[in-house]
Amino acid sequence: ALAVDIAAPLAIGHLLASVFTYLFFAFAIYAIVKGIFLRCGQSFPAKIVAGLLVASMLAIIAIMPLHSVAMGRVVTSLLMAPIFGISMIAASKRLSQAIDLFVLTNLAMGTLIMTVHPITTGLTILYPNIFGAYSETVHSLVIIFSVSLLAIPLGAVLLFATAMEIFTELHSISIIDGLTGLLNRSSFEEQAKQAIAETRTAALIVCDIDHFKRINDTQGHAAGDDVIRAVSSKMKDMCAGRQIAGRVGGEEFCVLLPLANTEAASLFAEALRLQISMTGLKNGNKAVTVSMGIAALTAGEDYKSLFKRADEALYEAKNSGRDRVCIAGHMKLVS
Ligand code: GH3
Ligand code: MG
Ligand code: MG
Repeated sequence: ALAVDIAAPLAIGHLLASVFTYLFFAFAIYAIVKGIFLRCGQSFPAKIVAGLLVASMLAIIAIMPLHSVAMGRVVTSLLMAPIFGISMIAASKRLSQAIDLFVLTNLAMGTLIMTVHPITTGLTILYPNIFGAYSETVHSLVIIFSVSLLAIPLGAVLLFATAMEIFTELHSISIIDGLTGLLNRSSFEEQAKQAIAETRTAALIVCDIDHFKRINDTQGHAAGDDVIRAVSSKMKDMCAGRQIAGRVGGEEFCVLLPLANTEAASLFAEALRLQISMTGLKNGNKAVTVSMGIAALTAGEDYKSLFKRADEALYEAKNSGRDRVCIAGHMKLVS
């Protein structure tokens, strides 16, 4: 419509106005189809799509003036059908949200229209006495209208979905630690504080990799990162339901166990310690191990004080030989 608006005051003839309009249409279709392929993680067949669009443009230039608008539409629809068809196949590869189902249905309808259109238009060409001149038929109007009716919501929905995905990803980057996929320090603290406020009964485990500097120094920083990831992965595996795990420092982690006392937390911590010592990862000629401190929430205590006591217990575990779990207040060795 914009193209026709531009073309009209310039008194450009019917053909140029059509080409103008079609240029905009082709560009929009190319962008939407590319968007669908990207969204569905499929490699975009740029040459095929561009080729079909250019061919349909040439069909308008070559066929419409010589033959008829109807004939041009038959050819362009035949060339558009495969574009809608392959987009529909790409869209069927991703059906995780309601939006995906909308996109798929929309493209299926587009494919159907582009396939049926040449047949129905063909009938108007073959039997003009029955149907009248093509461009004057209701059918011609309906076809143009139906494509707009499909393409505009499709474009709008894809734009909306993309914006939502960018927003979700930015949000996730801001709360998730990139190396380990655990919560980062600030989001761990936020969630831990919230859980504490809700349950008022909880235990906190602070966990630190033993002699980690040595791994970095002898095996390199990348190997150090691998160890951090492996330890985090064990931690993630052990956390279920409401348990919250975060990476609160370079090689320091926290797990908050809502509704747990020190006994429950020390069972958890001991199991985690054993799991990590059995990963097969080496620090020098010894296994990679961790030390842990535990504190259980006392009446009226806040997160800051809870963490301080768990951290002191960790310090105790380090000082008494590492590869062990200590409980705040008790200062007695669990392992
Ligand atoms: P300890 O048993 O007392 O905990 O000894 P440690 O060597 O583990 O203690 P320290 O806290 O002194 O060493 C931690 C080191 O972790 C220092 C820092 O260079 C390294 N580090 C911190 N973040 C990262 C990271 O993301 N990747 C790697 N590879 N190293 C890190
Ligand atoms: Mg440390
Ligand atoms: Mg350490």
